[in-house]
Amino acid sequence: MTIIADQPQATKTEPGQLGGPLLATVRQALTESGAGQAVIDEAVLAVASGQVHQAAATAVEEQDTHVVRPFFDCLSLVINHIVTGAPLTLAREAAEALAATPPAQAGHHPWCHVDKCIPHRYEDGAVLTEHRGPAYTAELTDGHEVLRLRAELGSDENLIDYKASAFIWAGDNDGLSFDQDTLGRAIDSLDTFLDGLRHLHRVMNQPRTPKTEEQA
Ligand SMILES: [Zn+2]
Repeated sequence: MTIIADQPQATKTEPGQLGGPLLATVRQALTESGAGQAVIDEAVLAVASGQVHQAAATAVEEQDTHVVRPFFDCLSLVINHIVTGAPLTLAREAAEALAATPPAQAGHHPWCHVDKCIPHRYEDGAVLTEHRGPAYTAELTDGHEVLRLRAELGSDENLIDYKASAFIWAGDNDGLSFDQDTLGRAIDSLDTFLDGLRHLHRVMNQPRTPKTEEQA
């Protein structure tokens, strides 16, 4: 049987005393004021939720380009409204900006980067356009070689299908074309792959256990 050593006194937490000094203070102050358990529980949950929001908002703020940052900015404005009574105008404007979809130019998708779209003119006078949208790249490098991933949204009026496709290339290989369903499955697969990479990253500094005398 393995005996787990007792934790040092300083890091011990009692049941119901999790959450750090702020929660302990809230619990103690409300208990001393004679508040009921339900009120104490509700206040502690509210403070804990606020702590989670603060940690998440700070993490998102540090990654300035993170796509969820406008959402967290809105939430922070609403919280400020609740705490200080500041008018919600700023939050409403921020939410409207978040929801607003830019108007599409005639003949283009809302997501087109119109200056990148390529019109092809045919002898019969018809103009059929190859539409090009946002593109993203990821460069994976070990410091010597680079594996480049690239994805771009597009649609082609030469195709009977009016739907857009996302094209994904890995290095110099031919790209693959994804519709909404297959791109959704590819994203799920990459999500799982990324979780796997995070696992490898977490454990990769674990050293080998020394060999026994028989192994050496
Ligand atoms: Zn276009």
